[in-house]
Amino acid sequence: MGVKVAKFGGTSLADAEQFLKVRSIVLSDEERRYVVPSAPGRRQPDDQKITDLLYLCHTLAEHSVSFDEIFAIIEERYLGIVEALEIDLDLKPELESIKAQIASGASADYAASRGEYLSGLILAHLLRFDFVDPVEFIVFTHRGEFDSEATQEKAVQVLSRHSRAVIPGFYGARPDGSIKTFSRGGSDITGAIVARGVSASLYENWTDVSGFLMADPRIVDNPLPIEQITYRELRELSYMGANVLHEDAIFPVRKAGIPINIKNTNAPQDKGTLIVKDVGPPTQMGTITGIAGRKDFTVIAVEKALMNAELGFGRRLLSILEDNGISFEHMPTGIDTISVVISDAQLNGRLDRVLASIRNKLSPDLIEVHPNMALIATVGRGMARTPGVAAKLFAALADAGVNVRMIDQGSSEINIIVGVETEDFEVAVRAIYDAFVRARSSADAGLAG
Ligand code: ASP
Repeated sequence: MGVKVAKFGGTSLADAEQFLKVRSIVLSDEERRYVVPSAPGRRQPDDQKITDLLYLCHTLAEHSVSFDEIFAIIEERYLGIVEALEIDLDLKPELESIKAQIASGASADYAASRGEYLSGLILAHLLRFDFVDPVEFIVFTHRGEFDSEATQEKAVQVLSRHSRAVIPGFYGARPDGSIKTFSRGGSDITGAIVARGVSASLYENWTDVSGFLMADPRIVDNPLPIEQITYRELRELSYMGANVLHEDAIFPVRKAGIPINIKNTNAPQDKGTLIVKDVGPPTQMGTITGIAGRKDFTVIAVEKALMNAELGFGRRLLSILEDNGISFEHMPTGIDTISVVISDAQLNGRLDRVLASIRNKLSPDLIEVHPNMALIATVGRGMARTPGVAAKLFAALADAGVNVRMIDQGSSEINIIVGVETEDFEVAVRAIYDAFVRARSSADAGLAG
């Protein structure tokens, strides 16, 4: 029998009703033996997240301002959940001690971590699972860096002593026992660590959407869900701005080859998205996995005759960026041209200095600067090896009247990146989606009909 680890996000635990959904999900599958909860999130869009309130309490305490009122909201939320669940658990002493600790100078990490800690106590009680505090096995160094190897070793030891357990997400401890959290959204990481530690057959990440969509629904109407995606494709899409899992959550499970299933607590029957190591080559020409993009890039294009024969030209160009503390995103090249694509956040007022250095050190024939660029990544398996994919993409953009300013297929065979003017961004994403996805769906429907 396989072991599944189920992590539930904040909206999945926002109130008692959600806790009950979580209980029925966990208990409906014997293999769901390890559960990682977040702190209660928003019940509706204008609601407060418990974690935010805890940070606020800490800030107020730090400035010797009373945080009674804010803490009362937190108390009410938890006590309300316990009462509605009708479980025999007295959280008052825990809440009192947390309040006292915050008042007497406990760290921001300690304060924030209590959101998941209290969720964990409630859920363990509700499920009748053991409660395991992650300070027992999630190891940070003295300097607060996450120690993956030590954690894995301890996780195996500690978790093997419990056949069913609830482990609060988001935090661990330094060697002196002090609490350290991951960055925001870090319960995803805890789930992945637990999955690796118990050699799970599946890491389920329960949230409030039925998996990832092939494109941003604010741009494309009703985009189709992604049923399967590889870790690499996911990395490409999330790098390009698709809002997915916490980046660091992928690594522990990817290393162990454990698939991740993104599921919806409010629609558990939906398949969601399965993230796997490999799904083999595509069966149909031109199938893509998803489209994502980001705005706010600048391209610096440098042209010089016989550049290809000039030793060290590329290195000198890049060292100018390095000397200015700027990292670049892409570097498409031609025979006598090199372009560097830089995000505006990196450039941050240093453009003139960079241009002056390029003129000085490289004596180019021409430098062109294209601001207001957006990059769009079309991701899919075997893109570089499938004939006609690029042609289809560029035809779609041309038909939509979009001028392509940059193309970068690179060596990554799962991604074609195009640069367009920022104002063409949405039109371009829709054109690509229509060409690859809507055209395919209607062809399939035609065949079926
Ligand atoms: N509660 C934490 C946050 O709001 C961690 C998490 O939910 O994953 O960032």
